[in-house]
Amino acid sequence: MNEKNAVRINPHFLKLRAGYLFPEIARRTAAFKKQHPEAEIIRLGIGDVTRPLTPAILEAFHRAVDEMGRKESFRGYGPEQGYPFLRKAIVENDYRARGIEIESDEVFISDGSKCDTGNIGDIFSLENRVAVQDPVYPVYVDTNVMAGRTGPAGDDGRFRGIIYLPCTAENDFLPPLPEERPDLIYLCSPNNPTGTVLPRSALERWVAYAREHRSVILFDAAYEAFITNPDLPHSIYEVEGAREVAIEFRSFSKNAGFTGVRCAFTIVPKSLQAIGPDGETHSLHPLWNRRHCTKFNGVSYPVQRAAEAIYSEAGKAEVAELVGYYLRNAAVIRKGLSNAGLHVFGGVHAPYIWVRVPPGFDSWSFFDFLLEKAHVVGTPGSGFGPAGEGYFRLSAFGEADQVNEAVERIRRCLENLPR
Ligand SMILES: *Cc1c(COP(=O)(O)O)cnc(C)c1O
Repeated sequence: MNEKNAVRINPHFLKLRAGYLFPEIARRTAAFKKQHPEAEIIRLGIGDVTRPLTPAILEAFHRAVDEMGRKESFRGYGPEQGYPFLRKAIVENDYRARGIEIESDEVFISDGSKCDTGNIGDIFSLENRVAVQDPVYPVYVDTNVMAGRTGPAGDDGRFRGIIYLPCTAENDFLPPLPEERPDLIYLCSPNNPTGTVLPRSALERWVAYAREHRSVILFDAAYEAFITNPDLPHSIYEVEGAREVAIEFRSFSKNAGFTGVRCAFTIVPKSLQAIGPDGETHSLHPLWNRRHCTKFNGVSYPVQRAAEAIYSEAGKAEVAELVGYYLRNAAVIRKGLSNAGLHVFGGVHAPYIWVRVPPGFDSWSFFDFLLEKAHVVGTPGSGFGPAGEGYFRLSAFGEADQVNEAVERIRRCLENLPR
């Protein structure tokens, strides 16, 4: 083979470390299960919901499927940006009801926030510097690596060129303002994996920073429905001036159980601007519109009708019930583990509990300890970034009786630890 003529791959993919975390968890769990086939393992590891779709949402979904089967109500391609009925419901319920003015054509409906937070990089120059919280939802980092916006990973697991903002108990999980100026700043609140939430003062500080340094904030609010304190902001646009510096991502995955249905949305305000190669200022809204319409053909009509039903009276009550179910699990985990002597964080405004591992353990040895002694699977914090070392994530998305049982088992095996 003449190597000069062979097809070249995107070389940046070779910088990615093998999808290490969840395969490694699966490998260790399977190995344990093989040695102990009788063990009843409880999985509080993966961030997926377990409660089924609720009645009002399901009914709207069914009705729309039936419409597709009749000649007079059949629909083909819809608008790529989403049907007006859903964009309008979002504007009125998620924004206007909180005193935020978003126009319905600033809302882009999509099939997921994973895709949107991953794809948003398309409209930004590869020269932009990226800042992320550490620990972090891996999508933000890996998609920037794929695009070529970073160097290779160092021995510490950090990619050169990315600015990491460590969030630990020592700084109350508040990302510190960076010393070097980033162009793009990913913020996730309520946070996956730490389960902590940014107060209004922190969002105000970041919006002020972005305005002063002409950075853009990419705000992932996938867990906003879990916020229980009315003083905490659900949207970055609750902060004055954010419309000029922030894009917001929302998803129906975690509030309404749409992880398998697939529907989300992204807000790109028309007032958000950045610089072109000509030095001229350009609005980002038409760029994202162009990307969305070129690479995406819309979310299916029945799914958008199901999402619309989330905003009906019945839908709102059902979703509150779902979120409440998971938050009760989170409270059980928090209480049980802190009574057992662990330091626990998060889990009040989010479905994740972030636990400091006991002295003598690191994230992975605590994973092995819980698997072997309690038959409970969680997620080692170090898998989300270097600053996650020494922590462990438990998800509240399980069945209530399983969660109770898991907490009881963890409590018992911690009692036998030398203190
Ligand atoms: C689950 C999750 C999402 C939502 O992803 P979808 O693709 O909409 O299912 C977005 N961001 C974070 C941090 C998440 O954990």
